[in-house]
Amino acid sequence: MMELRIQLIPTGEIILPPGKNGENYCHNCRVVASDGVRAMMESALTARDRVGVQDFVLLENYTSEAAFIENLRKRFKENLIYTYIGSVLVSVNPYKDLEIYTKNHMERYRGVNFYEVSPHIYAVSDNAYRSMRTERKDQCILISGESGAGKTEASKKILQYYAVTCPASEHVQTIKDRLLQSNPVLEAFGNAKTLRNDNSSRFGKYMDIQFDFKGAPVGGHIINYLLEKSRVVHQNHGERNFHIFYQIIEGGEEDLLRRLGLERNSQQYQYLVKGNCPKVSSINDRSDWKVVRKALAVIGFNDDEVEELLNIIASVLHLGNVQYKEEEGYAYITSDTQIKYLARLLGVNGTVLTEALTHKKIIAKGEEDESHKDASVIGLLDIYGFEVFQHNSFEQFCINYCNEKLQQLFIELTLKSEQEEYEAEGITWEPVQYFNNKIICDLVEEKFKGIISILDEECLRPGDASDVTFLQKLEDTLGGHPHFVTHKLADGKTRKVMGREEFRLLHYAGEVNYNVNGFLDKNNDLLFRNLKEVMCMSENKILTQCFDRDELSDKKRPDTAATQFKASLAKLMEILMSKEPSYVRCIKPNDSKQAVRFDEVLIRHQVKYLGLMENLRVRRAGFAYRRRYETFLQRYKSLCPETWPNWNGKLSDGVSTLVKHLGYKPEEYKLGRSKIFIRFPKTLFATEDALETR
Ligand code: ADP
Ligand code: MG
Repeated sequence: MMELRIQLIPTGEIILPPGKNGENYCHNCRVVASDGVRAMMESALTARDRVGVQDFVLLENYTSEAAFIENLRKRFKENLIYTYIGSVLVSVNPYKDLEIYTKNHMERYRGVNFYEVSPHIYAVSDNAYRSMRTERKDQCILISGESGAGKTEASKKILQYYAVTCPASEHVQTIKDRLLQSNPVLEAFGNAKTLRNDNSSRFGKYMDIQFDFKGAPVGGHIINYLLEKSRVVHQNHGERNFHIFYQIIEGGEEDLLRRLGLERNSQQYQYLVKGNCPKVSSINDRSDWKVVRKALAVIGFNDDEVEELLNIIASVLHLGNVQYKEEEGYAYITSDTQIKYLARLLGVNGTVLTEALTHKKIIAKGEEDESHKDASVIGLLDIYGFEVFQHNSFEQFCINYCNEKLQQLFIELTLKSEQEEYEAEGITWEPVQYFNNKIICDLVEEKFKGIISILDEECLRPGDASDVTFLQKLEDTLGGHPHFVTHKLADGKTRKVMGREEFRLLHYAGEVNYNVNGFLDKNNDLLFRNLKEVMCMSENKILTQCFDRDELSDKKRPDTAATQFKASLAKLMEILMSKEPSYVRCIKPNDSKQAVRFDEVLIRHQVKYLGLMENLRVRRAGFAYRRRYETFLQRYKSLCPETWPNWNGKLSDGVSTLVKHLGYKPEEYKLGRSKIFIRFPKTLFATEDALETR
């Protein structure tokens, strides 16, 4: 009699994991075959046809991009937004609320093996948590994808999962609340409406969650990267400034606005009118303000501190409305209304402020430090993916450099170490060809001759240094580099699609042209010294924390923007390097934020820039699991009379005996020098099952 095991997932998905003979695997629900079941099986198989495979590894034609995208399409159509590539989770933004994030769903994923339930962000969260607990190894979850692909939503879901499912510690409610409530605050100050995403994060974010020995969250800590500062003073058409400005103006209580000297009309403020987009249909600034105000209290700002914070926010708006005129080469402020507000809000002397706003003195800039506590950690990285626009500038250069570094990390952590391990273990294994992008990282960051060094050199060079001389210097130094091209260096065909002020980098994911206009200015990122002095004199405590007096006495020139970014990325890489990574790759289905549209061209572009086909190729070539012989024997020896209770021979012989007894087929495993390698997860799960039912 045939036995068929099927699990019906409430989303309508039927899991049919690998198995050449159609054998299925799942222990939740057993059904004995009969005519009825045969019908069920048929419908299940049809269902597989309809909903695609839940792990791309199961695709028969796994090297075909068309098959890959077809599988995504099938699943997207059925609201199955998650699919694995081995342990990498691919997520397609549904642009609608799905009933898959309830407490029940969280429970379903808690403590369950990855492959037993349908793919989900909760499975990734749970897996990282359990690895942290059982292997005592710090974890990190890297979330990537382009703007609007769902990165920030994914990180929120992970936080919610931990907040609900982790055990309680003494202060657990406070910690959980703070973790969750940090989000609205971060988003108010760092997110804005862009053309691509109504709630676009304009900064990269790395968040640590620290757990005590019982696995309860006990703390957290956040590092931000590359906040898009230029948005404060300028927004493109159809875009907005950071949410917080509109929230205060729309939602702030009457007497708060009075204290801040603000009117309830955002269009009064120069810094809020550029995009001509005061309202966004998907955003309710007024109710968001209430959420943010409450969140500020939860994460530990007292009323005075909130007031100081808002004073700073309001002063930015007043600063934007200060009017200057020029007379004989000098700047004057035409009216002192704003200055009066500014002096009060910033807690500084009005005359000194006026002087600072109209005269120049140079520099100084600080970077926050971060420390690591002695606890287990799960880190979440939510950071902009590759950006390729019509016009790419310094910002895209930094973002794409960051993505090269993350790809390097991926190679280091997964591909390279994987291949090295196979070699060390003497496992015959067809090496996977992959492109090592270290050459591009070096091109950007190498000392003396990397792009950042050359840029810094031009920034420091007195005299005629300009964006154009920077470009020339790049040409002189890097001409001939296989990943660097300019208009002058290009062949006829490439020259046609390049401007004279552009250089092109051949990134691992594709080519990008960067226009050098503004590179020097943006890299210098100067804050004139007298402005800094005024801020240091402020009575506003938050401001004085931002502007450190000690730095004023430091005569050393502060690092440039690119060098600071390079240093903070190096630090980030170090943090991530010490952890075990999980990957979430987010995909945006269309550019119009619509729930059903599956724009194939756009998706193909992302599959390429996320390196997913490469992911899949490596995954298919590799082994899912490896265990040291002694660990493997220790755990499973009870399943085999010959190895139980003690095996006296060579460890490798013991393992060999054990797996033969368990019925492993030759193609399912390989024996190395010190480890057994298991190709499919289901093999190991079946053995785990055997332990349970023994
Ligand atoms: P990113 O951080 O990648 O720029 P977001 O996470 O902000 O993108 O997502 C953009 C928008 O897409 C969100 O505001 C939300 O409306 C929608 N969205 C993203 N992920 C989901 C999801 N899992 N379920 C429902 N809507 C989502
Ligand atoms: Mg985001």
